[in-house]
Amino acid sequence: MPNPHHMTAAGFETRAIHAGQAPDPRTGAVGSPIYATSTYKQDGVGGLREGYEYSRTANPTRTALEECLASLEGGHSGFAFASGMAAEDTLLRAVCGPGDHVVIPDDAYGGTFRLFARVLERWGLAYSVASITDPRSVEAAVQPGRTKVVWVETPTNPLLGIADIAALAEVARRAGALLVVDNTFASPYLQQPIGLGADVIVHSTTKYCGGHSDVVGGALVVSAEAANADGDGESLAARLAFHQNSMGAVAGPFDSWLVLRGLKTLAVRMDRHCDNAERVVEFLTGHPAVSEVIFPGLPEHPGHEVAKRQMTRFGGMVSFRLRDGEKAAVEVCERARVFTLGESLGGVESLIEHPGRMTHASVAGSALEVPVDLVRLSVGIETVSDLLADLEQALG
Ligand SMILES: *Cc1c(COP(=O)(O)O)cnc(C)c1O
Repeated sequence: MPNPHHMTAAGFETRAIHAGQAPDPRTGAVGSPIYATSTYKQDGVGGLREGYEYSRTANPTRTALEECLASLEGGHSGFAFASGMAAEDTLLRAVCGPGDHVVIPDDAYGGTFRLFARVLERWGLAYSVASITDPRSVEAAVQPGRTKVVWVETPTNPLLGIADIAALAEVARRAGALLVVDNTFASPYLQQPIGLGADVIVHSTTKYCGGHSDVVGGALVVSAEAANADGDGESLAARLAFHQNSMGAVAGPFDSWLVLRGLKTLAVRMDRHCDNAERVVEFLTGHPAVSEVIFPGLPEHPGHEVAKRQMTRFGGMVSFRLRDGEKAAVEVCERARVFTLGESLGGVESLIEHPGRMTHASVAGSALEVPVDLVRLSVGIETVSDLLADLEQALG
C-alpha cells in the first residue's frame, strides 16, 4: 500500500522497529496486532474504514510490513507476497507482456532462472543471459525498445558475484528498461539499491528479513521515481497494487507479522552474521583441503572494489571449493553438525549445502551451472568458535 509516511529522517534501526507500526490506536498495544480477518465491516454501503474492504486487497498487518519494508529500502511503496517467487512473478507479469525481453544474470537464483526459462518463456517473454558482473555484457544483451527489465542480483547466489548497481542503472535507463535488484543476499541493512538508481527491489523475505527460518515470504519495493513514472500513464505503484490484488499471491497476516518481527532485529543480526562470516573466511582461507574461498570481502575477489563502494559490509554468505572435488564437497556437507545441511539461507542458524546437487540442481546443463566441488555456507549467529570447530572436523 503506498504511504508517504516512512519516517525517512529517522535512522535505519529506528525505522526497522517503528516504521508502519504506530501503537494500536484503540488499546495502545505496542506489538503490531495480527489482523486475522478476511473481511471488514462497512459503515454503510461502501463506507470503508481506512480503505479496508477484503484481505486479499489489503490487510493492516500486511500494510505495516509493506510500509516498514518501503521505509528500509528508501522506496515509495512496498508490496508483500506469499513468497519471493510470487513477488517476482507478479512484478514480471505487471511490467512485461508477450514479445517483451528481459536480461537476467548468468548466476541468478535457480528459482528465478526457472521462472523465466520454464514458465514465462511459454507466455512469450524472451530473455537473454548476461554476465552482470560486467556492465558491457549487459549492455550487449539489452535490446533497446524491447527490453523491459534488467534483472540484477548482487551478491549473486551461490558464486557471490558483484554487480555494479549504479553502472547497470545507467545501462537500463539508456535502454528504457527498469532496473530490478534482488536484494535478498545483502538485505537493506548492507545495501540500498534505490539510492544507486534501481527502480524496483525484490526480496525473498524468507531469508535475512524474516531471519529465523520460520516463514516463507516475498516483497517488492518501488522507488519514488519509478512509482510515479510509467509510459502507459498509470503509475507503477498502482499497477503493482492492481496485479497483487488480481493475482492474489499475498502474504497472510501471520506471515506478515513474522517478517515484521524479524525486521526489528535485522541490523544487529546482520552485524553478527558479518562478524562470523569474516572469521569463517579467515579460517577457510588457510585450510589445506580448500582450493578457493569466495567472499566479496576478500581483496582478491573480482568484485571487491565495487562491493566496498555499494555495501556497508560483505554479508553472511560464504562459498568455497574443495581441492578433492565433488565427493569431498558432499562429504563436508554431510559431516557438519552445527552447520545444518539444508537449503535456504539468512536465518540465525548456520546452514551448509552443496549447490550443484541441491539449490542449483535445476540449472545443471544451463549457463547457470555451478562447480561440482562448491560448498555454500549461510553463516549464522551462533558462537563463532563452535562454527569454526565444526568446519574443522567436517573438513577432516
Ligand atoms: C530464496 C530466494 C528467492 C526466492 O524466494 P522464495 O521466498 O523462496 O520464493 C529469490 N531470490 C533469491 C536471491 C533467493 O535467495
